[in-house]
Amino acid sequence: MLTSQTTEHRCPCGSGKPFAFCCEPYIEGQKLAPTAEQLMRSRYTAFALGAIDYLIETTAPEKRELIDRAIIAEQIQFTTWTGLTILDKEAGHKEDSQGIIEFEAAFETEEEQCVLHERSNFYAKNGQWFYLDGEVEVRPAA
Ligand SMILES: [Zn+2]
Repeated sequence: MLTSQTTEHRCPCGSGKPFAFCCEPYIEGQKLAPTAEQLMRSRYTAFALGAIDYLIETTAPEKRELIDRAIIAEQIQFTTWTGLTILDKEAGHKEDSQGIIEFEAAFETEEEQCVLHERSNFYAKNGQWFYLDGEVEVRPAA
């Protein structure tokens, strides 16, 4: 599915690392993201690449029924993600059971350029991080 992204390509999440050594092993299900930040980065990358299954699998099970696959597919189709900036982190390390990541994700549609600002809550269960929910704000890019 993601074969167009090879080891030479930098990861879309902006880590500066090759995709194969950053988010790819998580999105491909080869490894679990060890921290809330890495889960968040890999979810951003999954949005950028259209990996809808991964977005659903990494959402907290109790929130999954709120996900509408068709809406996500449409968002992915009409949105180009152009950059991720991590603004703040609380906990979310390997040994933690909860974490908060605040970030800005830039995207463009055919009509406009926008920035999505979110403060997201994550939790870990049996060594696996999940996205729970977040406060989301979308504004036009400056
Ligand atoms: Zn990455």
